[in-house]
Amino acid sequence: MKTLITETKSVFSKKYGTEPVWLVAAPGRVNLIGEHTDYNDGFVFPMAIERYTVIAAGYSDAAGADIYSINKEESATIKLDGSATPPQTVVWSSYIQGTIQNVVETGLCPKNFRAVINSNVPLGGGLSSSASLEVATATLLEAITGQKIDPVQKALLCQKAEHLYAGMPCGIMDQFIAALGREGYAMLLDCRSRVPKMIPLDDPNIVVLIINSNVKHQLTGSEYPDRRRQCEKAARLLRVPKLRDATLQQLGAAQSVFEKEPDGNICFRRARHIVTENKRTVATAEAMIRKDWNTCGRLMYESHTSMRDDFEITCTEIDILVEIAKSTDGVIGSRMTGGGFGGCTVSLVEASKAGKVSETIAEQYSTKTGIEPAVFTTRPAQGAMILENN
Ligand code: ADP
Ligand code: MG
Repeated sequence: MKTLITETKSVFSKKYGTEPVWLVAAPGRVNLIGEHTDYNDGFVFPMAIERYTVIAAGYSDAAGADIYSINKEESATIKLDGSATPPQTVVWSSYIQGTIQNVVETGLCPKNFRAVINSNVPLGGGLSSSASLEVATATLLEAITGQKIDPVQKALLCQKAEHLYAGMPCGIMDQFIAALGREGYAMLLDCRSRVPKMIPLDDPNIVVLIINSNVKHQLTGSEYPDRRRQCEKAARLLRVPKLRDATLQQLGAAQSVFEKEPDGNICFRRARHIVTENKRTVATAEAMIRKDWNTCGRLMYESHTSMRDDFEITCTEIDILVEIAKSTDGVIGSRMTGGGFGGCTVSLVEASKAGKVSETIAEQYSTKTGIEPAVFTTRPAQGAMILENN
């Protein structure tokens, strides 16, 4: 993060001719296990990564906020007086405007400011640059006003900004982990109660390897709503409020009910993924507490198989990455992470072998697919923070 901060501060002082007064940061995230469980009221298990969005800011005489994104090489003017409304067309500054509007609506009154934003979370890479931007923005307003927002409320305000101002009906995971992440801990999050449980992931012998397949398949666009609908239908057939409430036994007993439906077989398999994935997610957290890495790894591989065969959200390139990982010495477990059809894999790796593992997987993946992946290791990082408040 050091280089990121230095660069941001230097762009700020070049642009505005003074040093910044406030400096804040919020991380990206990776989900270790628990995919598509969020909208089924189930469990997710993310951790913050050592990739951050930082904002340097200072006082301004002009009304509102002037904000420059180094990543986008563009400026935007943001309203601070609570008069903003959701945009017709979503642009990068919509995430910031939405967050600020929601924070202002809670009663915080920020002074006029100007700011420079910089991020080493890849934009649109599935590691949630959007939530890190929102949470960093809310954290900046805390610094400017000197008023603390309860971190859970902060996460919810940021989620609402993404819903209303970016048109993305996301779950609570990304903003929760960006706001509440802790160095050395992953977060088991119950998406029904919204109660996070911090699980130590601080064994010096273990690192988390993230590999971006650098593919994102443009499918019909209905994959996500289709799966939501199939999950809802399965819950109805099982007579439970959400799939979170169903057991594998219940599902097995209801097989004949599913068979009567034209899409019964698909809904059955979708439900089987969710029911088993919830169990695996909780079991992974329990195994992690025991430092039972082999069990964690096995559950990650099982999760991948379930996403591939039952939920059908993986793709050839991602399957190839996980297959290569499985045959590489030093990899404990590996799976696709994120919504699906491309994006990243997440793996648990023996720290002493991480360099060789990264090399081997990258090499074999590009030989097999002709695509260069992006690879980096990380440990669980700290959530949102105020770094400077002068
Ligand atoms: P992800 O969250 O997986 O990175 P999203 O599509 O949800 O992908 O969010 C990416 C969008 O968020 C970008 O296209 C941009 O509009 C906005 N964004 C994130 N970080 C920045 C940044 N540093 N500067 C400007 N816009 C950003
Ligand atoms: Mg996002």
